[in-house]
Amino acid sequence: MNSAADNTSTPPVLVAHDLSKSFGDTVAVSNASFEVGRGEIVALLGPSGCGKTTTLRLLAGFERPDSGSVQINAETVVNDQTWRPPERRRIGIVPQEFALFPHLNVGENIAFGLSSGHRAWWTRPWRRFGSSEVPARVQEMLSLVGLDDFARRFPHELSGGEAQRVALARSLAPQPAAVLLDEPFSNLDQNLRANLRLTMRAILKAADTAAVFVTHDREEALSLADRVAVMRDGQIEQIGSPDDIYYRPQTRFIGSFVGDANILPGRRSRGGADTELGYVLLDDAPSAQDGESLDLLLRPEQLALKLADPGQPEVANVISSEYYGHDQVVRVRLPSGAEVEARLRTDVVWQPGETVQVVVLDEAVAFPR
Ligand code: ATP
Repeated sequence: MNSAADNTSTPPVLVAHDLSKSFGDTVAVSNASFEVGRGEIVALLGPSGCGKTTTLRLLAGFERPDSGSVQINAETVVNDQTWRPPERRRIGIVPQEFALFPHLNVGENIAFGLSSGHRAWWTRPWRRFGSSEVPARVQEMLSLVGLDDFARRFPHELSGGEAQRVALARSLAPQPAAVLLDEPFSNLDQNLRANLRLTMRAILKAADTAAVFVTHDREEALSLADRVAVMRDGQIEQIGSPDDIYYRPQTRFIGSFVGDANILPGRRSRGGADTELGYVLLDDAPSAQDGESLDLLLRPEQLALKLADPGQPEVANVISSEYYGHDQVVRVRLPSGAEVEARLRTDVVWQPGETVQVVVLDEAVAFPR
């Protein structure tokens, strides 16, 4: 299981405090607060229009907040009295389209922001490298992203994944305090993404920078980030480790947004809940009275199936099963008519029509109904 990055001992690199931003009547971001530590990767995850990109733009300095503040390395870069433009925030940016300069080769792209005289908002140098230092720094960045021999290639000669790594190398070259990535995988082939996530994580960890990336893809957030901030309607509803977000969601919305979820009615009883699947333990402090009506959230992999005992009066039925090789997803109709989904190993392959009993393997999360 994942755990939150241990950033308690060092001060955070990036602090967003109570950031709010509206466009006319549209509240894009509302009182967003979070911190990112050195070497930590934080995902801003949420559905389209929830305010992820605006949050990133507020951090970068491409938007000015209506209220709130941003600190980078303990210095305020924006609040109601202070404004530092993007190029003076020590932030590296990886734009969604990567935005490599087509007429410059890979080495020149990476070198672009390193020496004085070059001016572009995402490559302006905060750590100036003397011209004699530039080639070594470029080579160091190429090695970091695993493209040692690519310095003379041009952007049109790169695959999508290679272009992404060059953009990352370019953003990291001037030693930013933090790097911001806007939907870094959205331009890449679906099949490549899983591999590239691991590569990207390894590069960011090796660079030991703070990183914030925006995504609407839950797998991307859970697999790449140390902590995930789930946004909805401009607000951060929960921020926590991938494991917390997935197994201990604080709201029903998060529970359903970050993974497949079975929602099962129940009634609180003796620290757990009585449900159609029997007595289920709950993963919460039982502050409420027995008898409270609840919705229990159970992930498909928290359920198992057994063949129903012969003569059992009420049975559940398999209504569909999808076989994926490494696992199968089996949909079951319960005697009440409610349906649940179980994600199971494939040692037993379940077929529609089989009569089964559904077993709950873990504690459930519950929300008052
Ligand atoms: P997506 O995943 O679709 O990119 P998002 O979560 O990044 O969405 P934002 O782009 O931050 O969401 O937008 C949040 C809200 O603010 C949306 O309702 C959007 O239409 C609105 N918005 C964003 N930028 C502007 C702008 N410049 N002018 C007016 N409205 C804007």
